[in-house]
Amino acid sequence: MTLALLVGAVVDPEDGTSGPSAVFVDNGTVTAIVPGHDAPEDATVLDHRDATLVPGLIDAHVHLNLRADGEMMANIAKPSDDELVETTLANARVALRGGITTVRDVGSKTDTGFAARRAGDAASLPHLLLAGPPITTTAGHGWFFGGVADGEAGVRDRVDLQIDAGADWIKVMATGGGTPGTIPWEPSYSEAELASIVGAAHARGVKVTMHCLSAEGMRRAVRAGADHIEHAGFATDGAGGSAFDAELADAMAEAGVVVTPTLSVRLYMRDHQIALGADAATVDAWQRRFDNGMSQFAKLAAAGVRYAAGTDAGWHRSPFDSLATEIACIAECGPGAAAAFRSATSATAEHFGMTGHGRVRAGAPADLVLIDGNPTRDIAALGRVRGVLRAGKFVAR
Ligand SMILES: [Zn+2]
Repeated sequence: MTLALLVGAVVDPEDGTSGPSAVFVDNGTVTAIVPGHDAPEDATVLDHRDATLVPGLIDAHVHLNLRADGEMMANIAKPSDDELVETTLANARVALRGGITTVRDVGSKTDTGFAARRAGDAASLPHLLLAGPPITTTAGHGWFFGGVADGEAGVRDRVDLQIDAGADWIKVMATGGGTPGTIPWEPSYSEAELASIVGAAHARGVKVTMHCLSAEGMRRAVRAGADHIEHAGFATDGAGGSAFDAELADAMAEAGVVVTPTLSVRLYMRDHQIALGADAATVDAWQRRFDNGMSQFAKLAAAGVRYAAGTDAGWHRSPFDSLATEIACIAECGPGAAAAFRSATSATAEHFGMTGHGRVRAGAPADLVLIDGNPTRDIAALGRVRGVLRAGKFVAR
């Protein structure tokens, strides 16, 4: 049965804006986009001519195990695996209803992400790209997810184990982070260990992303051949100090590594503190962290470093349907609305090896979102979701 979506406009991130259109969908695929609102009589016509059609969005950094409830890192892995699977599925559905038709999970406990993917009804979920537990040193950042490995041989074995379990990506904690006892501004693996991880993953056709909160972490990641860097922080101490490194930024641009700056996570923390009635100093501290992240990412983008939008949803207070906020932050750092839009659609689909995704054109998968407004002019329009199609079927709101 052919579906004919009558829309006010179509915005493809590469081809730009078309006016009033009839978009035909068959068997989960866009088959044609025709100007005007004519549709054959045997088609199921859905009239959304007050809305704009865009591709489903891609969130490059989520934690589906977590509940965005501010839970302390060390308590995250306490629920039973069954509960974590339930939480994973519920969070994935929240993302889908928010117009996010692909998520990349970069840290969940043991095999709970893979178990959720096996248990869930794929049509009711976004595409799930899963890293499983992040590979981390003994007692390193996120050790409680179950991905501990040390030494060049140890990390190589760990990569194989995770790919055997179903990992689509390998995530590595290349510096410390929010886990007590770890040091965010210090690297956790040697360059040789990181290179061993990349070698083992690439040998099996799997890409590697590295959590990096400091310049030395990123330097090693780039030299080791990482495909992607999470957070891309330049922390120098525990008091919020940081120092941008222009030479490193040039090396990152040269290497073609993609960064996910996770800017909005600090914005949601600031707003949470305001809602709690926190004192001005606390609110100011989160504002400063946010501003810092924005100015550093602006410099990375200006240096020509590639980027993919990702929220860190689940962690701290970032909701699973908050990608529009993150995209707006990216736009504001200099790239502008059209490029920020591509960083959550076509550009990231290509980086993720999802050929044809992140586009609205004949032949593209019908993972589509109806929104109010044109995101290449008003990026906030991505947050005004009117309806979502996954594989050509409307997702229940
Ligand atoms: Zn994260």
